[in-house]
Order: sequence, then structure tokens, then C-alpha cells
Amino acid sequence: MSKIAHYLQEHLVGEVMTSSDARNYFAKDSSIFNIPPALIVYPRNENDIRKTTRFSWQLAERNRILPITSRGSGTDTTGAALGSGLVIVFPAHLHHILELDSKSGEVNVEAGINFGKLQQTLQTHGRYIPAYPSSLEYSTVGGAVANNICGDRSYKYGPIANYIKGLRVVLANGEVIETERISKKELNKKLGLASFEGEVYRSIDTILEENKELVSKSRLNVTRNNAGYNLTDIKGDDGTFDLTPLFIGSQGTLGVVSEITLESVPYNPESTLFMAKIEGLEDLQNVLDTLRDFKNMPCSVEVVNKGLLNAVYSINPNQFKDVLKTPYPEYLLFVEFDSSNDHQYKKSVKRAQKLFEKMNIAFEKETDPDFQQKLIKIREASATYLSHVDGFKKSMPIIQDGVVPPNRLADLISGTIDIFKKINVNEVAIWGHAGDGNIHIQPQLNLSQVGDRQKAFRLMEDYYDLIIQLGGSISGEHNDGRLKTPYLEKLYGPEIYALMQKIKQVFDPYNILNPGVKFNTSIDDIKNIIAPDFDLGGLYTYLPRS
Ligand SMILES: Cc1cc2nc3c(=O)[nH]c(=O)nc-3n(C[C@H](O)[C@H](O)[C@H](O)COP(=O)(O)OP(=O)(O)OC[C@H]3O[C@@H](n4cnc5c(N)ncnc54)[C@H](O)[C@@H]3O)c2cc1C
Repeated sequence: MSKIAHYLQEHLVGEVMTSSDARNYFAKDSSIFNIPPALIVYPRNENDIRKTTRFSWQLAERNRILPITSRGSGTDTTGAALGSGLVIVFPAHLHHILELDSKSGEVNVEAGINFGKLQQTLQTHGRYIPAYPSSLEYSTVGGAVANNICGDRSYKYGPIANYIKGLRVVLANGEVIETERISKKELNKKLGLASFEGEVYRSIDTILEENKELVSKSRLNVTRNNAGYNLTDIKGDDGTFDLTPLFIGSQGTLGVVSEITLESVPYNPESTLFMAKIEGLEDLQNVLDTLRDFKNMPCSVEVVNKGLLNAVYSINPNQFKDVLKTPYPEYLLFVEFDSSNDHQYKKSVKRAQKLFEKMNIAFEKETDPDFQQKLIKIREASATYLSHVDGFKKSMPIIQDGVVPPNRLADLISGTIDIFKKINVNEVAIWGHAGDGNIHIQPQLNLSQVGDRQKAFRLMEDYYDLIIQLGGSISGEHNDGRLKTPYLEKLYGPEIYALMQKIKQVFDPYNILNPGVKFNTSIDDIKNIIAPDFDLGGLYTYLPRS
């Protein structure tokens, strides 16, 4: 063990580890990267986190940088759960529900709690968090907050940010703050604090006041965006102020989240699910545009394309045997309505049915949960594709979650297909959140081969250019991490990106919190950390679902 590890172990209740096995394990998340940490800390309480960050801060004051990376379950696909310094691992000890008010549905949890476990507990009280990732059974709520996750129901319910009331955050110097929306009067009190917290409030308030136009320009015209920082939801027009939106989606680059207070909503499992077979991009876009106009929105509008269905058929020809015959349609669209308001719900279901009939689109309509499950299995078949290995080729998370304004989805799909043609791939597997203009793609490549590496970078360059050209965001769901950092300045332009960098400097003047994530990673940097042996490691216990 190093001197540092000995010192920390002496002062923490939790454990410190430096074994090569543990370091190798935490060198990977679910991205294509590999960065072994120097040591691993398993905090047993918030005080352990405070002491750890304080220690790293004091080292930095003496010009020695020991980076801190917070880590949940490591399902991050962008390399944001990796770091060369100290990794703080949450799930081992900090995984409890601290308080649950079954009347109001408010719940306070430690950051390392498994999302699926929280959801199950809430459901026993007839409630749930409607923004959840498909990885919920094997990821943490802390990771979900840090990535600002979205899921299939985010079409209607938005990202997890909509359900977070407040946070407890350990700042870079070890100070703990609590965030929630505060009044103008309360803000004035914060501005007068002599602590680091006071300095943060003063600096952020000044930055926002002095750059109102840039802040407003940083809001992109998309329904979900996790690129960079959320600058627009901190200060309300009424003078209220909340640092929570800044921490949400910041991937551990501004502070370490120890506790989260969430609001849940009533859960009603009853729903109507349509599976529509759509034969062309124009029809797909027309259906999506019409659904967006529904007063009572569907809760979920998801797509899988023929490329994905054909890929799954070639891996496992019987996977859809009971529910879907070949030849497959160009697009399968899954539209689900949940019944929060009975009258509106029935009206919307009827309207959707009429829409498909009028457009001569074949569809199935299911209300029985068992039959719905069979259809959902098709939507979740992307897991079969993701976990398939063809020789040494695997599905690579490199251009996975671009989002465009919903009315530009057809342009995104056709543009993406053209980009793949340039590298001689004629059929592309596409799935995801069509209603939000947010699709997933993971090309099959062998990154240990120079030719495929070159293809990967060409795809990234062309794809992110396309997204920007269509007025979208390069991170609709899985956030930036190291993977998309080289493209962030292009997305926002130098002025807005510099403003985001200023915000980072306020919270983290020594650059110890997850450095290399969102800032200071070039394309050459990411070339140096690619793991040629990328795999989905521990996820196979759950991967039939994705
Ligand atoms: C097959 C698959 C499916 C997925 N599906 C979805 C999906 O539907 N929607 C979606 O949005 N994402 C999805 N993801 C991405 C990922 O699973 C989610 O973002 C997940 O919520 C991350 O949680 P985690 O516990 O694994 O976090 P980690 O991977 O451990 O960390 C993620 C980020 O959060 C930071 N972090 C973790 N804990 C803290 C903390 N306490 N304080 C500060 N920062 C912290 C880390 O530093 C890192 O930057 C998917 C990934 C895979 C592999």
C-alpha cells in the first residue's frame, strides 16, 4: 500500500484498497476506455467522503494532484466513472433509504442505492420515479443523478432532474452543502457566508448575472440535453436560486453527491401499448409530429428499425417467433399511453388508433400486461445486439445517444445511414426514444485493429457534425464523459463553453473532481485510453434487458 493509502485508512471508518485486482476492476466502466485508479475508497459515512476530498484538496494546495472520481455501479458508457487517482465507490455501504414519506411520496436516499431497489420499494407504496434508465436494475441513483438519466417514459415525464428536490453535496474542499430552490432572501444569506459555500454562491450568481445572454443561448432546442452544464435552470425569473440543476448531469465534476431527495408520483400499471409497423421515414416523422400535438401525451414513443431486427434475427432467429414475422417492417414504433386521467386517456388512445388507420399503418394494440411484455421484448432486443460478439467485432458505445429537435428525426436517421455508407456499412441497427428525437446506435467494430479504430473516429466526427448541423445535442442521454468532451466546444461555441469552464473553476479550482470529464480531453487523449478488450463485463446478469 502507498503512504497515501495508509494515511487515508488510518483516518477513515470505511476501507481503502490498492490491490491490483481491485484496480483492474475499477479501470473499466461500460465505456471503451481503461484507466486504472491509484486507490479505491469505500466510504461508510459522509464524514469519510469529507475527509477524503479534504485530503485531496490539501495535497493540491501543495501542488500534488490526486483526482477524485465518484462511482456508482460503473455502467457509464462515456468513461466518466474512471479516474487515475482515487475512486470513491458508493454502493458497498452508502445504499440506504434514509426517509420515505408514503403520503407525499418524498424519499431521501444515500447516493449508492440501487435504482431498481428504490423503485421496488416505492411501488409497494403505489408510487414510482417515472424517469428511470433501462439499466436501473444494475445502477445507482447517484449515477442517475450525476448523468441526469432519461428513459422510455421521459417522453412524457422528462429526465430525473424533474424529480429531484434537493441534494447533499460534499464540495472539493470537504465542506458539505445542502441544495434546493431557495428564495431571494435566503440567497442573500448564502451570499454573505464566509465559507467556501458562500464563495460558490457569490461567484455563480455573478457569472449568471454578467452573462445572461450566453446563459440563455446555452439552452438547446431539444427535449433532453446532458451536454456540458445546465446553466439555465439555476436562477429563476422571480430571483429564486438553486444549485441542484448544476450538479445534476455534472458527472461528479463539481462535487460528490452524498444524499438525494426525490419526489415520486403515483404508479398505475394500467396502460395501452401500440406496436405500429411503419414502412418509410416520411410516415415515421408524420406519426411522431402528430403524436407531439396530443394534449394527453403518450408516456413513451420508442422505435426499433429493420437493421436492428435483422441483426437480432441473424443472431437468434427464434427470438421474435411468437410475435413478429419476417420480412420485418422498416420501423416498429411502440407508443404507450398510461392512464393518469381516465377520460383524456381513452380519448388519446382512440386518436392514436385513428391516426394509424388513416395512414394505413398496420398496428397491434395491447392492454393485457402479459401480451404487452411480449411486444416490449422486441423493443428490448437491442440487448441481444449489444451483447453479441462477431469474431472480434463488438457493438461499440461511441456514437450512442445524439438527440435532435423531434421534427428532425427523419433527417438524423437518413444522415446517419449516409455516414455509415461512407465506411461501407449498408444496414445500421437503430433503436431508442424516437418521440424525443433521441436514438441509439452502436456500430460493430474491432477496436484492436487500426482500420476499425480509424473508422470509429471518422464515424464520431461525421456523426457529431450531423447532430450539430441539425440543431441537436451530442449528449441526449448518456452524458459527455471523456468520450464526447472533445466535441463540446464545437457544440456550444467557444464563449458558452468558456463560461461552463468558469463554473467548473469556481467549484473545483485545483481540478481534482473527475478531471478530463467535460473539459481538457482531446481526441488524441481518448485514443490513448481506448481498451482494445472492451466488453460488457459484469452486465450479463441483466443484459437481456436494455
Ligand atoms: C446497457 C445499458 C443501458 C443503459 N440505459 C440507459 C438509459 O436507459 N438511460 C440513461 O440515461 N442511461 C443509460 N445507461 C447509462 C448508465 O447506465 C446510467 O447513466 C446510470 O444511471 C449510471 O449509474 P451508475 O450507478 O452505473 O453510475 P456510474 O457509471 O458509476 O457513474 C456515472 C457518473 O456518475 C458519477 N457519479 C456516480 N455517483 C456519484 C456521486 N455519488 N456523486 C457524484 N457523482 C457521481 C460518476 O463519476 C460518473 O461520472 C445505460 C448503460 C448501459 C450499459
